Amino acid sequence: MPAELDPAGRVQRYNRPALGLFDRAVASVLPAVPRSVVKRVSAPYIAGPTLDDARRTVASLNAVGKCATIDVLGEEIHTAAEAQAIAASYGDVFAAIGADGLDANVSVKLTGLGLKLDVELCRSLLEALVRDAGARGSFVRIDMEDASSVDDTLALYRALRGSGLENVGIVLQSYLKRTLADISELRDLRPSVRLCKGIYVEPGAIAFQDSEVIRRSFVSCLEALLEAGSRVAIATHDEHLLGESLRRVAALPKEAYEFQMLLGVREARASELVAAGHALRVYVPFGQRWYEYSLRRLQENPQMAGVIAKATLARAVGRGR
Ligand SMILES: Cc1cc2nc3c(=O)[nH]c(=O)nc-3n(C[C@H](O)[C@H](O)[C@H](O)COP(=O)(O)OP(=O)(O)OC[C@H]3O[C@@H](n4cnc5c(N)ncnc54)[C@H](O)[C@@H]3O)c2cc1C
Repeated sequence: MPAELDPAGRVQRYNRPALGLFDRAVASVLPAVPRSVVKRVSAPYIAGPTLDDARRTVASLNAVGKCATIDVLGEEIHTAAEAQAIAASYGDVFAAIGADGLDANVSVKLTGLGLKLDVELCRSLLEALVRDAGARGSFVRIDMEDASSVDDTLALYRALRGSGLENVGIVLQSYLKRTLADISELRDLRPSVRLCKGIYVEPGAIAFQDSEVIRRSFVSCLEALLEAGSRVAIATHDEHLLGESLRRVAALPKEAYEFQMLLGVREARASELVAAGHALRVYVPFGQRWYEYSLRRLQENPQMAGVIAKATLARAVGRGR
C-alpha cells in the first residue's frame, strides 16, 4: 500500500518527530521521490533483499556483542497465498538462525500474516510460527501496527498465551492513550513487551500528539511494565528516554530488560550501551518489499532533506553523463 497523503499532499500514514522546515517540505514530497533514490538512501536501514543479506548482517552484529530480531518485510500483502509465503519465509529464517548459530529472534507484522484479510488465517499462521520458534528455542515478537490493529493483535497474543505458548511477546506504543490501561489488563500474563513511541499517524482522540507528552507516557508505561514484572525491551533512540530508562533499570538484573534499536540508527550509541554491559538488540529487516519500511525510516531521519537532496542530485548528475 503506498503512503497516504492528506489533502495538502503531506504523507499521513506515519508519525514524524519534529522536523525543520526544509525537512518537513521534503517529507511532504517523499512519495514523489523516485523509488531508486528512496532505495539508495534507505539502504542503511535494511539488511538487503535476501535472507543471506540478513544472515551476514546479524553475524556482524553478533560479532560486536549485539543481538538481533529479524523482520521479513511484507506488510502490504493482498492474498492468503502471500501471507502463507511470508509465514514460510519465517521458517527459513529460523533454519538460518539455527544453522549459523546466530543470536537472533524474529519480529512479525500481523498484517503480513493476513490480519486484515482473515483473522483466523492470521491466528493459525502465527500460532504455527510461535510453535516452530518454540521447538527451536527461539522467540517471536509481534510488532504493533496502526491503531485499527491493536485490539486484534492483543486478542491474538492473549489467545496464544492461553494455549500455553510463552515464547511470544508484543509491542506497546506510548503515544496511544489506551496503553497504560492495556498494561494493566495484560498484567496477569506478565507479558514480554517491546515499548516504543509508535510510528503511525493517529488522531488526537486516541493518541498523544505532543512529543513531550509521548515521552512522559513512555516513562509511565515503562514504570508500569517493570512494576508488573514484565521483561521490557526499551526501543528508542531518544537520548532523553535512554537516560530516563537507564535510571529505572539500574538496580535490575541484566536479564530483566534489554535495549532495542533499528538497523542503521544511532549505531555508536548502541555500541556504548553494549560496552556498559546492557543487552542490545538490533531490528534487522530484509526482503523485497522494502518501500513502506524505508519511507517510515526516512521520515524519522532528522537529516532526511540533505540525504535525499544529495542522492537526487547524484542521480541527476549520473543521468547527465
Ligand atoms: C527496535 C524497534 C522496534 C520498533 N517497533 C515498532 C512497532 O512495532 N510499532 C511501531 O509503531 N513503532 C515501532 N518502532 C518505531 C518507534 O515507534 C519510533 O517511531 C522510532 O523508534 C523513533 O522514535 P524514537 O524513540 O527513537 O525517538 P525519535 O525522537 O524519533 O528519535 C530520537 C533520535 O534518534 C535518531 N533517529 C531516529 N530515527 C532515525 C532515523 N530513521 N534515521 C536517523 N536517525 C534517526 C535521531 O537522532 C533522533 O533525534 C520501533 C522502534 C525500534 C527501535
